[in-house]
Amino acid sequence: MKERDRLADILRRRGLRVTPQRLAILSFLDGNTDHPTAEDIYAAVKAQHPAISLNTVYKTLEAFEEADLVWRFRAGQKHKSHYDPNSRTHPHVVCTRCGSVDDLPDDGENLQADAEKSLPDGHHDVLRVEVCVVVGLCEECDDHDE
Ligand SMILES: [Zn+2]
Ligand SMILES: [Zn+2]
Repeated sequence: MKERDRLADILRRRGLRVTPQRLAILSFLDGNTDHPTAEDIYAAVKAQHPAISLNTVYKTLEAFEEADLVWRFRAGQKHKSHYDPNSRTHPHVVCTRCGSVDDLPDDGENLQADAEKSLPDGHHDVLRVEVCVVVGLCEECDDHDE
């Protein structure tokens, strides 16, 4: 299957209309582990789609979030929204200086199981546990200090 068809198929299965902009944004996010912000995504997609607006990017990300295609979370001192195409529970590690976000090598299964065990009666399944581990400095910021 061609890459474009594969991405279009993902959109259709989530009940989303296929547009060139949505395909471009999904293509950038697919398998992306950098946890980009909307501005990062805008900058990357604009290179190929100069006519795209930041507003379109926001709207698209909102639709993706509602369709559970991406997970949005706030992190870092500026509390910026980051987007992660891996919507399964997994912890993040956040740098206090630059706000960079990385995945921790933990599949999140224990976090999810613990949360499920501690649910009060009458609550439904745990869809996802959001965990941000805040570190002093990431590797890159640490290097600048030396
Ligand atoms: Zn940093
Ligand atoms: Zn992540």
